[in-house]
Amino acid sequence: MAGEPQDDCLFCKIVGGQVPATVVRETETTLAFRDINPQAPTHVLVIPKAHHENAAALAADAPELAADVLRETRAVAEDEQLDSYRTVFNTGSGAGQTVWHAHAHVIGGRGLEWPPG
Ligand code: IMP
Repeated sequence: MAGEPQDDCLFCKIVGGQVPATVVRETETTLAFRDINPQAPTHVLVIPKAHHENAAALAADAPELAADVLRETRAVAEDEQLDSYRTVFNTGSGAGQTVWHAHAHVIGGRGLEWPPG
C-alpha cells in the first residue's frame, strides 16, 4: 500500500536503519543521504520516509510530502553552498530509475551539461 514500508525496498531499509547511509539531513518526513556512487562532488538523495514508488506516485498520492522533499533539496543545496545545482527525479526504467522509492538527486559542485543523456 502507498506510504507503507516495503520489506524489499533498499531506501525503506535505509529509513529503518537496517542499511547504513551517510545521512546529511533529516526531518520528520524526509531523509537526505549521500549517493553511494556520486556523479559530482555533491550528490545527495532526498527521499520521503514513506514509501512511494516514484515522483509521479508521490505527487499524486501525497503532494504535501512531495513539497517536503522539494524543500529539502533546497536545504541540501544551501548546506553544500551550491549556487548552481540540478534536481533530478528519474521516473520509470526508461529514464534511468533503478530504486523504486521516490528520490530526488541533488547534484552539484561541478559544471553540468544540458541536455542529459
Ligand atoms: P535512480 O537510478 O534514479 O533510481 O537512482 C538510484 C540511486 O541510488 C543511484 O544513484 C545509486 O547510486 C543510489 N544508491 C543505490 N544504493 C544506494 C545505497 O545503498 N546508498 C546510497 N545510494 C544508493
